[in-house]
Amino acid sequence: GPSRNVTARVAPLGPRLVLALVEDRTRERRIEEVRRDFVANVSHELKTPVGAIRLLAEAVDEASDDPEAVQRFAARMLTESDRLAHLVQQVIELSRLQGDEPVESPGPIQVDTVIPVAVDTSAIDAGAKSIQVLTDVEPHLAVLGNEEQVTAAVANLVANAVAYSEPGSKVLVRARAVEGFVEISVVDQGIGIPSDEIDRIFERFYRVDPARHRSTGGTGLGLSIVKHVAATHGGDVRVWSVEGQGSTFTLSLPQHQQHRTDDGAAQAPV
Ligand code: ADP
Repeated sequence: GPSRNVTARVAPLGPRLVLALVEDRTRERRIEEVRRDFVANVSHELKTPVGAIRLLAEAVDEASDDPEAVQRFAARMLTESDRLAHLVQQVIELSRLQGDEPVESPGPIQVDTVIPVAVDTSAIDAGAKSIQVLTDVEPHLAVLGNEEQVTAAVANLVANAVAYSEPGSKVLVRARAVEGFVEISVVDQGIGIPSDEIDRIFERFYRVDPARHRSTGGTGLGLSIVKHVAATHGGDVRVWSVEGQGSTFTLSLPQHQQHRTDDGAAQAPV
């Protein structure tokens, strides 16, 4: 049969090399599959807001003698175009990260600088829901990498904590050193994640029961961005969650040791 032919042909290469080649092909095919799925998903996700904006533009056109309706449609167009802009930005971010290549010319990043910036990106949404975002950050922690990417990763976790929490609840962002890693945890008292869904939330475009939180207008890309940032920085991201009680996401990145002066300011190693 054909399988015996294949064995005869590849045998001189040795079993280990054959296995490596097969694995490599499988990996290539898998990457190609993921890429194709991604493009299909992006096209689908882009069509929804574009379609909505088009319909709203037609509605505005037809309602020109009803200023109140025009205003209502215009407001919705604004919401839809913001959503579109957010989606496009996340797709660009993700496609930059997709190769999981190590970060080019990484620099030291001060964690106590990054966290307030990341928290600030959710200030308006948190304020609108009276959610207090508290921080508890060990001073002088640093990691090595791309500051924009690490900030975006933490910002995504904070944005989720705010989006999936009830008004009036609290979110805590904590950073500390644990055995050579900097652990940045975002703790919320929100809706939590069902245990049978938890393995899937880092997949692109995956959202737990979209109907349950359509109003948050998410894209399902945030956590896959976090996962890729963790991977490109030699770290990982873990989640612990109890449905109805809350979630804790922990981004763990290798700690960058820096020499310090007596006043605690960072110095380049000599
Ligand atoms: P989205 O844009 O939908 O927030 P993400 O990739 O950031 O996309 O998250 C994927 C899904 O994981 C979300 O749709 C939500 O169902 C769930 N999720 C993420 N973070 C939290 C959280 N802090 N609490 C509860 N559910 C969460």
